[in-house]
This record gives sequence, structure tokens and C-alpha cells, in this order.
Amino acid sequence: MSADPVKSEPEPLKIGDFARHAGLDGGPRVREVYLDNNATTPVDETVVEAMVAALRDGWGNPSSTHRPGEAAAALVETARGRVARLLGACSPEEVVFTSGGTESINAALFATLAGGTPRGTVLTGATEHAAVLRPLEHHAARGLAVERIGVDRDGRLDLAALHARLDALASDCRLVTVQWANNETGALLEDQELEALANRCRGYEVPLHIDAVQIPGKLPMRVHELGIDLLSISAHKFHGPKGAGALYARRGVLDRTGGAAHVAGGTQELDRRGGTQNVPGIVGMGVAADLARDHAGDPATRARVRGLRDHLEERLRAEIPGVGIHASGTPRLDNTTSAHLPGADGELLLASLAAAGLAVSGGAACSARRRGPSPVLLAMGLAEEEARRTIRFSLSRRTTRSDVEAALHCLREVRADLEVLGAG
Ligand code: PLP
Repeated sequence: MSADPVKSEPEPLKIGDFARHAGLDGGPRVREVYLDNNATTPVDETVVEAMVAALRDGWGNPSSTHRPGEAAAALVETARGRVARLLGACSPEEVVFTSGGTESINAALFATLAGGTPRGTVLTGATEHAAVLRPLEHHAARGLAVERIGVDRDGRLDLAALHARLDALASDCRLVTVQWANNETGALLEDQELEALANRCRGYEVPLHIDAVQIPGKLPMRVHELGIDLLSISAHKFHGPKGAGALYARRGVLDRTGGAAHVAGGTQELDRRGGTQNVPGIVGMGVAADLARDHAGDPATRARVRGLRDHLEERLRAEIPGVGIHASGTPRLDNTTSAHLPGADGELLLASLAAAGLAVSGGAACSARRRGPSPVLLAMGLAEEEARRTIRFSLSRRTTRSDVEAALHCLREVRADLEVLGAG
């Protein structure tokens, strides 16, 4: 009799196996704890339910004019209204659905920079996400100048320098694109700073794009009132699904900039993004948007997350000599701790923590598999060694006190083991 192919498969590695194989201890010590919510968030159960219902009942093509098509179109338009409310937009027509943050940002840059002869300068920040920097490299190769405005040791954007460059360039500036909050440190621009920047940009008729991927669910958003022209978000960062995002484009902005669609095809999304819409993803994003708006607008939820984050930092400071919390001297997201932990090599520490069941990260998730210190931390003036030994903890509204205690326990034990092994 031939061997059962299923039984002959090797046993999959379980949490704790790495630690055992590495001789770190005798088995799993913590339940799995997820403190990597700036990388992605678990999908909310109500989002899952709405998406399953949309897969079953909203399978029509939203562009079709028969009943199944109209049912799907109604789902998309309900979600558009919800996302518009989350953002504080004037009208749902200002929301274009995309596949996520990266596509939204690419769309904003394409709409404002791709048309006409490549001339002028784009102003951006030194700690932007690769989703901004890499498309800008492409535009720079076409002949546009890209200037990156520096940040201080806390990751705070030098707004005075940005305003000064804008004044100097005036209408030779083609676009200003900066992040609302940094995904690694949580350092953020406050509403009044965004508003002042938007005013300055408007004075020179320079479009302003904001990478707000880290904001929904964490801070209230008033895009219209602040005068922002273009803004990008991504559903999977606020307990929605992957593969769904949105670009906010203030009414008239895309017309003014000539705005060809970055994905050319059919006339979906008011002719701003070709291709049949991802109806279940959009539905899920809409439900997640309502939840994010409720939570960001609830001071008690925000205070609870901040309290847990502050407790985590207090314990880190008390227990680890020489610990440094980045961006602690500047306004930052309530959920984010970026900590320099002297001692063990960062990569080894991260691998050991992951094996013991604690999900945290060394920086941006999309670069987690690329070795080397974080360019964001280097841009803040940290030494390579400090950047290499930095761990990011990012909480969510679902994080509990016992998650934080379990994470601290795991960190304590893993660091002690690494020290015994001479790797501390
Ligand atoms: N911008 C920021 C600040 C981010 O944190 C991310 C994702 O980590 C992105 C852009 C890209 O978003 P997405 O993963 O949805 O493409």
C-alpha cells in the first residue's frame, strides 16, 4: 500500500519551535500577541460578514444597468458615502476607490505630475514611505526635480524649511506630498499645521497630497476643512480588507491638473480609474470606515490605547537600561512605540520574539525582509547601530492590557535567553 501522502508531510513548525531549536528554552511561553498594527490590522468581524454578503448578493458588475448590476452599484455607492464621511469630504464624488494605499499615492502623483512637459520641482519629506519615494524616482527620471525636506531627531518635518522652499519655488513647485503620520515612529503633523500648509500651497496653486495611510481609526479626519487637495488611505490599516483603498481628490483638483486616469480602461470611478470595481473589498472598506470614524471620534477609545502604549513605554524604560523611545518629543500617534533597545542584535531579537509568539517589527512591514537599518531612522539622524536595534510596537483598539503584559513578559524572557547565549 502506498504511503498516505498527507501523513508523510513533515509537521509544520509551531510557535515556539524556533526557540526550542535555537536552544532558547523548553517551549512556547506566551500566547500569540499581535502588536504590529501599523503593518496591517485584523479584519473586523462585521467587515467579514458584510464582505461575505457582498460576494453572495453583490456579484453583479456595478457598471451594468440591469438588476444585479444596479445592486452591486448601490453597494459601491453606499461604501463611497461611508468613506467620504470618514474623511470629512464634501461629497462622495471626491472618493475614488483603488486597490490600496500604494495605488492611491501613485494615482495622486500620476494625476499631478505625468501630464505635459516634465518641469519644476516636487517637495516631499525625508521620511516618506516607499509608496511615495519610488514613484517619485520614476518622475525624477523623466526630468522633474525632487527635493526632500529634512526631519529632526524626533522625526518632525521641518515645516519652516518646507514653507520657505515653497515660497522660493512658487508656481515652479509642481506638487507637495508629505505624510500625515509616519508608519515607523508615529510622528505626525497636527491639523493646524496641515491647514497652514494647505493654505500656503493654495496661494501658489500648488496641489497638496497627503499620505494618510496611518490615520483612519487613530485620528479624526477633516480633509475638506483643512483644505487638502489629494489624500490616500488603505482599508487594511483600519480593520478592513487588503486590496481596497481610496484616493480623496477635492472637487475640481483633478480637472485643474489635467488628471488622466492612472489606470486607463473603462470609465469606472467617474472615469478616474478604469477596471471593474472590487465590490466585496469596497463594501468591507465602507464598513471599516464607519467603525474607524466612530473609534477615532471617541476620546475614551483613544485614551485607552494611549494608556496602554504609555504603560508599555514606562515598563520598557524601567526595565531596560539605555532604552530610547523615538519621536517621544513630538506629537505622534497614540498607538505607536518605536524603541531602541540596547543589547541584542535587532534581527535576532525580532526572530526570537516572532518564534515565541510576539508579532512586532523592525520598521516598515514592506521592507521587513530587506536587511539593513531603516532609512526613516537614519533620516532622523540615528546611528546605524541604534537603528538596527529598534523595534516597533503598534497597538490597535483591540489591544488589551493582558496583550501588553504578555508582550513585556516575552521580551523580558527572550532578552534574558539571548544574554545567556552571549547574543545579548
Ligand atoms: N504609506 C504609509 C505611511 C504606509 O504605512 C503604507 C503601508 O505600510 C503605505 C503608504 C502603503 O499602503 P498599502 O500597503 O495599502 O499599499
